[in-house]
Amino acid sequence: MNTFDLQSIIRENIKKLTPYQVKEFPCKIKLDANESPFPVKLSQIVNEIDISLNRYPDPDALELKKAISRRFKINTNNIMIGNGSDELIYYLILTFGGPVLYPVPTFSMYGIIAQSVGVKKIESKLDKNFDINEKEFIDLIKKKKPSLIFLSSPNNPTGNTFSADKILKIIEIAIKKSSIVVIDEAYHPFCSEKGFLPFLKDFDNLLILRTLSKIGLAGLRVGYLIGTDKILNEVGKVRLPYNVDALTQYIATHAINNFYSKIKKFIREIIKEREIMHKELSQIKGIRVYPSEANFILFKAKNSKEIHEKLIKAGILVRDISSVVKDSLRVTIGTKEENTEFIKTLKNILEG
Ligand SMILES: *Cc1c(COP(=O)(O)O)cnc(C)c1O
Repeated sequence: MNTFDLQSIIRENIKKLTPYQVKEFPCKIKLDANESPFPVKLSQIVNEIDISLNRYPDPDALELKKAISRRFKINTNNIMIGNGSDELIYYLILTFGGPVLYPVPTFSMYGIIAQSVGVKKIESKLDKNFDINEKEFIDLIKKKKPSLIFLSSPNNPTGNTFSADKILKIIEIAIKKSSIVVIDEAYHPFCSEKGFLPFLKDFDNLLILRTLSKIGLAGLRVGYLIGTDKILNEVGKVRLPYNVDALTQYIATHAINNFYSKIKKFIREIIKEREIMHKELSQIKGIRVYPSEANFILFKAKNSKEIHEKLIKAGILVRDISSVVKDSLRVTIGTKEENTEFIKTLKNILEG
């Protein structure tokens, strides 16, 4: 038999990569993936899906862009839709290459995608308040001239926003080095600050990423990138023509047009529950809880690994973050009942 040497044809950067694994322990209370806890049935959004599946979808997803355009007052020329914002991060790195600069800990896909595309990653540690280490970050921009800078604000997994002044300074310095700054606002709907959409008109090197995933439609896979048509035209060269399927375009359009007041109600509920959860956590001995502007909370506790396992045994899944923030767990805000159960179980584990 002929031997087939698979290893010999795998690119070196892929060999070093471990697949993004979402460890799925089936639990009755799922607070690990920053999803919305409120079930959304298709029938709440559309009665009948009026599309013909024999045809390819609209390659430009124009109706969906129009819906986003109307709701967020953004010109359709300044929007690109992705199969989740993950896909858009991939397209950005494919288009502009490296180095790619981002603070850590942060959303892991920036690093994973840079590695799969085979471009250099530059990581800058956040300070003790999980804010950007301004001096180091700016020095890195000046010295390394990154093509792309990713800033998740609010940041996953820490939950805080970065200082807006620091971000503005970074954008201003980045523009001189021809670096693009991507502000990933996946959690903006839960945040009390205004975000960076209003600054798009001031900076040609600024891009904003948003997604429907964290506000109740994770199953659909819709993210969108907002920026100048010049940049989007370049990114458009690597975008696969039918990256957003017809069903998704149709449902997401209707969700934004007709279901958004419900989504806003869910968001308000999650913010309210987040404040309650924060207070409850801060009253548990042995826990340090961090402030959050997102739909999850990061907390530190000795023996976090053991707590994680005990929570799973009790049917509650949270995310073990200990590999990036020592002794830490990240809990997504669930329904009132789920949060109550989580707090009760956690208290039992720690104090019981
Ligand atoms: C969840 C998340 C995303 C991914 O969003 P999708 O649109 O589901 O691909 C992007 N950025 C951050 C910071 C996230 O936490």
